[in-house]
Formats: sequence, structure tokens, C-alpha cells
Amino acid sequence: MFFANLHDDIGNDIYEHRFQEPNRLDEFHYPRFKQGKMKFSAIVCCFSGSEDWKAMMNTVLYVERKIQESRYFSFREDKEIQVFLAVEGMCGIQEEVEVKIQWLYEHHVRLGSLCWNDENALAIGAKKGNKPLTEKGIRVIKEMNRLHMAIDTSHCCEWNFYDIARVSKEAIIASHSNVKALYNHYRNLSDPQLQVVKAKNGLVGAICVRWFVKKKEDKATLQDYIEVIKYLKETIGVKHIALGFDFMDYIEGMEESNVIGIQDITEIGNIAAALKENGFQEEEIEKICFQNAVDFMKSYL
Ligand SMILES: [Zn+2]
Repeated sequence: MFFANLHDDIGNDIYEHRFQEPNRLDEFHYPRFKQGKMKFSAIVCCFSGSEDWKAMMNTVLYVERKIQESRYFSFREDKEIQVFLAVEGMCGIQEEVEVKIQWLYEHHVRLGSLCWNDENALAIGAKKGNKPLTEKGIRVIKEMNRLHMAIDTSHCCEWNFYDIARVSKEAIIASHSNVKALYNHYRNLSDPQLQVVKAKNGLVGAICVRWFVKKKEDKATLQDYIEVIKYLKETIGVKHIALGFDFMDYIEGMEESNVIGIQDITEIGNIAAALKENGFQEEEIEKICFQNAVDFMKSYL
């Protein structure tokens, strides 16, 4: 059983360690990927609201080069682990939006979300407020469609979400969000939003960070996380479920971020075992844990 991941902020992690650990991707992350049988993953560069375009370019260029130089990770299928670049938050894009989206595409970015939790020239995060997508945001979605870059709605507010769904001619995904019906976190999806993702042929990447499953102090467990996946199966079907881990355990002080039962990437096999115990069929587990994300993203690579 292999795994695929729609969200992992490793781009920021290796960029932040660029001076002390220039080989962190291969030396720190690779052994963990191997142990967890992670074969396909987003490498995310997150921009939280203060970064300008130059800062965005510097990060993307560094991370792109590290992947191209890696012994184990590749944008193609020629090495052990296939990856694609994702940008989470486009606060540095304020003018010439089409040119900048094209630049990102030329540098292997294949999945993008217009904002993080911030408000910028394109969009606004669910944490920050609820407003329509801006005119520039609409242009970005059209350009992403034209280039065939996948669209992620995991951070934007509901108003932006429905605007994006209306403007985009292609599928939309929520790469790392859970469901509001089970826990009302501002980044989790309401039932109508889930139906839109389904209708647009997209994916929901269930996130195992504990405060998207239950209140942080309630210390959600692996079984609580499985309940999210069961709910998604009932409401939108296995076809639209993937995993978006958003690991933070490798960040100092965040070691306890995941649900109890999945300490880090090396223990994700526990999810497959728990799904089986909860009555999921072998082929359903394979689709949720690996194939759905791979099939979806490969059409963009
Ligand atoms: Zn995020």
C-alpha cells in the first residue's frame, strides 16, 4: 500500500533550512517518506500574506532546484518519489497577474490557492472574512484554467469558494480540509460545499491535523479522523476522497499536531489499517490513500 499527499509544506521547510541543512530534502525528508511509503506528494510553498513577488520567486526557484538536484524526488516518474510544486497563497501577485501565473507554471507549480489565511489582491482566507473574489482573482482562475494548473480552495472564504467554482471551467479541490458537519472549523467544508466539489469532479484531501478533526484540547484520535473519511464517503463517495496531511510535526514545537495514532509520516500506514477495521474495501482504501490523488494530479503534470 502506497500513499499520496495533496498538501505538505516541505517547500517552506527546506527553504528555511537552506543555510544550515542544504540537503534537508534528501537527508531528512526522504528516509521518512520511504518509511511511510509516501510515493507521490505536493511540495508546498506557503506564502502567508507579507511576501512580495520577489520573495515568492526566490522560494519557488530554490525548492524547484532542490527537487531537480534530488536523488530520490522528481517532477517526472524517473525516480523513487514523484512530486509537484504547489503554491499556497499568492499575496505577492498584485499586478500583471497572468504573467506571474505563467511564471509559476514554467517553474513546475501545478496546484495553487489564491490566499492563505490572509486577505490579498486576489482573495480572502476563511479565517479573515467573507467577501467576493476580486477582479484580479477572477483573472487568476481563468489563467490557471488556460494553463491547466489545478485550483485549491482549502483556505479561501465561502464567498470566494463559490465564486471560484462558478468561474473555473475545471475541477476544484480542497487539498487539506475536513467537514463542518463534524467539526465547525473555519477551514472545514459545509455540506453544500462538499456537493460542489463533487459536482465539479474534484477532491477533498482529509487532513489529520487534530484541530481540524475536533477542538484542539479534545485531542482527536485516528478513529475520529476515520469518522471524517466515513462521512465523506457517505456524502460525496470514495471517488472524491484523498488525503492532505499538512504535516507540521517536523516544525519545532508542533510535534503533537497530528491526531493521536499518527505521530508523523512514518506512521501513516495506520490509516489504511484503521480504514480496513472500519469496513472499507481494499480497493476503496487504495483509492483514498493513493490512487485518487495521483489520477487527479497526473492530468495536470
Ligand atoms: Zn494550509
